[in-house]
Amino acid sequence: MVVYEFDPWGSEWCTCGRKYSLNPYTGCAHACTYCYITSYIPKGFQARLKRGLVKRLRRQLPKLDPGVPVTISNSSDPYQPLERRHRQTLACLRVLRDFRVMIVTKGALVQRDAGVLANMRAGVAVTITTLDELTAGRLEPGAPAPEERLRALQVLAERGVPTICRIDPVIPGINDDFRELVRELACAGVRHVTSSTFKPRPDSWRRVAAAFPEHRERLRELYFTRGTRVQNSRYLPEGVRRRLMLELRRECLRRGITFGVCRERLGIPMPSCDGMHLIPAA
Ligand code: SF4
Repeated sequence: MVVYEFDPWGSEWCTCGRKYSLNPYTGCAHACTYCYITSYIPKGFQARLKRGLVKRLRRQLPKLDPGVPVTISNSSDPYQPLERRHRQTLACLRVLRDFRVMIVTKGALVQRDAGVLANMRAGVAVTITTLDELTAGRLEPGAPAPEERLRALQVLAERGVPTICRIDPVIPGINDDFRELVRELACAGVRHVTSSTFKPRPDSWRRVAAAFPEHRERLRELYFTRGTRVQNSRYLPEGVRRRLMLELRRECLRRGITFGVCRERLGIPMPSCDGMHLIPAA
C-alpha cells in the first residue's frame, strides 16, 4: 500500500475532512529544524526512493474512493531534490489525474508541473515561514530560498492553479512578523493561508533550541512552564496561540486571502483548514 487514510496520530484537534495521504519518497532532504517526521521515520532526513511506487499505486487505485482527495505529501516533500531526477511525484500525478489532489511542498520545482496541475482538480500549498533568508536558512536548511517559493506560487497562480501558503509553523519571536509576507502572498495571487503554531516533540525541540540559542530559554518557559501537552506535543499557552493566529488572520482577510488553522482548537471560523475548499469537488 502506498496510499493511506490521513490520520495525524488520531488527533481530536484535527479539523481536516477525510483525505488520503501519499508520500512519493521516504524521508526528506529539506531537514527542517521543526519537522516532526524524525519522531516516526528512521533516518528521516535521509531521503530515499520507494521501490515500485507507481506500479503499487496503480494496483491500489481501484480500491480507492475517487471522491476522497489525495494530499501529496505529509511526511516528506514531493518536490525535494530527488524529484528533479526521478520524477516520481509527476508519475503519481499522472496516475491520479481523476482525483482531487493537494500538493504540499517547499520545493520551487513544483512549478515544472504547472501544466499538469492546471489540467487536474489540484491545488498547491507551498510553505513559507518567513521572507528573511537568514532565518529561513536556520529553520529550513535544505529547502529553496523563500523568494524562489514565492515565485513558484506566482507561476502556479498565473496558470490558474489554486494556491495556498502554509505559514507553518509560527514560532513566537522568530517568525511572527506577518505583514510583509502576507502582502507578498497577495501580490503572488495566493488565495488561502493555513497556519499553525510550533508544537515541538522532543527531537524537534532539541533542533530548534540548538539552531536558535538566543531564544532557547524564553521558548522553554513558554512551552514547558506556561504551555501544555497535547498527546506527544507541547503547545504554547492558549492566549499566545490565539493572539498569533488572530493577528495573522486579520492580515490575510485584509488582503482578501482566506485563512485556516491546523490543530489549534481556537474556534476560529474558516472555510477549510487546509485550503481544500479551493479545489472543485466535481
Ligand atoms: S519539508 Fe516538510 S517533511 Fe521535509 S523536512 Fe521540512 S517539514 Fe519535514
